[in-house]
Amino acid sequence: MSDTFLKKRIAVFGSTGSIGTQALDVIRTNPTLFETEILTAQSNAELLIQQALEFKPNAVVIGDEGKYKLVQEALAKTDIKIFAGEAALEEVADFDSYDMMLAGIVGFAGLKPTLKAVQKGKAIGLANKETLVVAGDIVMQQAVVYQAPIIPVDSEHSAIFQCLVGETRNKIDKIILTASGGPFIGKKPNFLVNVKRDHALRHPNWEMGAKISIDSATLMNKGLEMIEAKWLFNLKPEQIQVVIHPQSIIHSMVQFEDGSIKAQMGLPDMKLPIQYAMAFPIRIPNEFPRLDFKKNASLTFEEPDVKTFRNLAIAIDAMFKGGNMPCILNAANEIAVWAFLHNRIGFLDMTAVVEKTMAHTTFIEKPTLEQYFESDGEARNFAASMIKM
Ligand code: NAD
Ligand code: MG
Repeated sequence: MSDTFLKKRIAVFGSTGSIGTQALDVIRTNPTLFETEILTAQSNAELLIQQALEFKPNAVVIGDEGKYKLVQEALAKTDIKIFAGEAALEEVADFDSYDMMLAGIVGFAGLKPTLKAVQKGKAIGLANKETLVVAGDIVMQQAVVYQAPIIPVDSEHSAIFQCLVGETRNKIDKIILTASGGPFIGKKPNFLVNVKRDHALRHPNWEMGAKISIDSATLMNKGLEMIEAKWLFNLKPEQIQVVIHPQSIIHSMVQFEDGSIKAQMGLPDMKLPIQYAMAFPIRIPNEFPRLDFKKNASLTFEEPDVKTFRNLAIAIDAMFKGGNMPCILNAANEIAVWAFLHNRIGFLDMTAVVEKTMAHTTFIEKPTLEQYFESDGEARNFAASMIKM
């Protein structure tokens, strides 16, 4: 058997983002294990070109069609296939020639290509939590039908997944998702009302894309992660707890029926859950910095302040309500975060936009995929109507 036959061929969707570039770092350091089959980016054509020249994938997709010519000219001397536009994401997700999709697109835009890969029976390394928040029931059901393994990349979910290895016959009592608390931990509304974009983008423990950084600052991220966990691990909402753990050393925990709790720990570094998902079920050695308990002597825990960080409370409401409510929450939140990042609304206004959209958008108890798309559109329009765009 040749070496290349054994290599896992990875399709990195969202290759120019925080997750995407770190996934390529993992591929670069493990050339005998992985090779790059597909790269996709929305608008950063320069970085996509650079990545394509280095990793020599079979195909690349540039979302912004206006940049197709630029990419095409830069890669003219290669035999890399070049696609452009939104529909091309599904087209390349339909290829036979890759083994795992590393789903690193941000937001609702990741849903269609990820679902396509699931329906091809591909393994999914799932960073794009919004896919499960929006349509978790359909995605997980299709994953069973098409036998597509979904391995979480989100650090909390990777932690739980790792804690569950070898526990298939044992029932979960509850899971405990840890949250750093973000840059504004301990702050009150009189402070938050004046918070600006640049301050909110500075996370104490993680360097991430803009959208998830804002979601971490508002605690919406933890709400989205609760919904993500519900689908990934087939839990009831009552079985999911959040605890603030500012050091981000324990990445999450599982409590079993006998009361025993398992935790997965390590320094905060997304490359670890990314490489775990890509190499699963094997653990591969690396040179990442190690946790030293002498330097991290104190691990602390506290209750989240949902009265101040109301996004977590409304996300929990959406999770309990079910149906298309998490889809509505997600759509309104994407609009609200965009508006905050463009200085159109204040930090606390984000909650108001999402909450009002949840109250006004048509509720559907058991939506079809088409209805999820309709709800996403309806919610986006309503949320946008509240903001001067
Ligand atoms: P990012 O903004 O850094 O990168 C997003 C990527 O998606 C880019 O490559 C971009 O070109 C592409 N993209 C953006 N909009 C698109 C669109 N409309 N259509 C197609 N492609 C589009 O984001 P990120 O921080 O890497 O996050 C990616 C996903 O991973 C998110 O769902 C996030 O919640 C999740 N996640 C990220 C981290 C992290 O540390 N960054 C941790 C856990 C989970
Ligand atoms: Mg996370």
